[in-house]
Amino acid sequence: MPFKHVALLGLGLIASSISLALRRNSPDTKITGFSRSEKTRRKAEEIGLCQVCQSVSGCVSGADLVILCVPVGAMRETMKIAAPHISKGAVVTDVGSVKVNVIRAVSSIIPKGVFFVPAHPIAGTENSGPEAGFSTLFEGRWCILTPTTQSSIAAIRDVKKFWQSLGAEVQEMAANHHDLVLSVTSHAPHLIAFTMVGVADEFSKVTKSEVINYSAAGFRDFTRLAASDPIMWRDIFINNKDAALEILGRFTEELFILQSAIRRQDAEFLQKYFERTRKIRRSIIEAGQDTSEPDFGRKG
Ligand code: NAP
Repeated sequence: MPFKHVALLGLGLIASSISLALRRNSPDTKITGFSRSEKTRRKAEEIGLCQVCQSVSGCVSGADLVILCVPVGAMRETMKIAAPHISKGAVVTDVGSVKVNVIRAVSSIIPKGVFFVPAHPIAGTENSGPEAGFSTLFEGRWCILTPTTQSSIAAIRDVKKFWQSLGAEVQEMAANHHDLVLSVTSHAPHLIAFTMVGVADEFSKVTKSEVINYSAAGFRDFTRLAASDPIMWRDIFINNKDAALEILGRFTEELFILQSAIRRQDAEFLQKYFERTRKIRRSIIEAGQDTSEPDFGRKG
């Protein structure tokens, strides 16, 4: 672990998981944290998450790594408040799910002599807040770094080591490529889930509670995605508009192809299509990115 003092700005799911993983894997690291609401700060203090500070300045002063763990749309404001208090030579990183717009928003306010290495851990759950974190969240999961001209080679190397110390595997990528890839693997699936649960909600007005009572695995999996934090997802779609629209356009075209196959009763086409998609699920399991247990290992 190349950093001695890590400052967490935001104390939600990702920050609390970082803190718990750090405390387990690098117990000598000093961890300070700040969240804008007193309620979250109090909760974090109650559960002994880290040294909870009452101000951004108190949190970041003296830190050699500052991590922005707030929603994408709040990164600029948070960085603006923190900037004057960050030590020369420190490294700033973030955990935002979108990269191009975060880089655009934050780069110009990074102080001189401070290095910025944008990052995105591809790990999470539908839960939020300081109590949602767990120390193994990043184990075996990818963390993508999207370096800019403000990231020195040493800072990139140290942020890489930092994520590896939490159990993650690290990959570098161009920010715009990251945003396109993530819109396929995460953003579009969430939007489809939000839509499907919205449709079911409309439908349930006709069928009373049947949708809830008889909810099958497929629908339940959608509801898990659709329960994710509304602010976080609002910011992701607002800040990754182009990539999201590109993938949704392709999705709509594909949906029409399947719709037409059903109308034409083209059994062979449908079977081949589903055989192809089944293989993708299997390759995710083989890559160690999910469990093969029924219902993803969840109970009930
Ligand atoms: P979270 O559990 O909802 O926590 C959000 C934190 O940000 C809280 O401390 C909250 O403060 C603070 N916050 C919210 N709005 C703010 C604002 N306008 N100004 C300043 N602070 C604000 O969120 P999370 O899941 O940890 O997500 C944090 C970041 O990680 C996001 O950028 C997200 O894109 C990224 N990320 C999330 C996941 C995931 O699955 N959740 C995965 C990878 C990356 P209060 O509680 O005090 O209001």
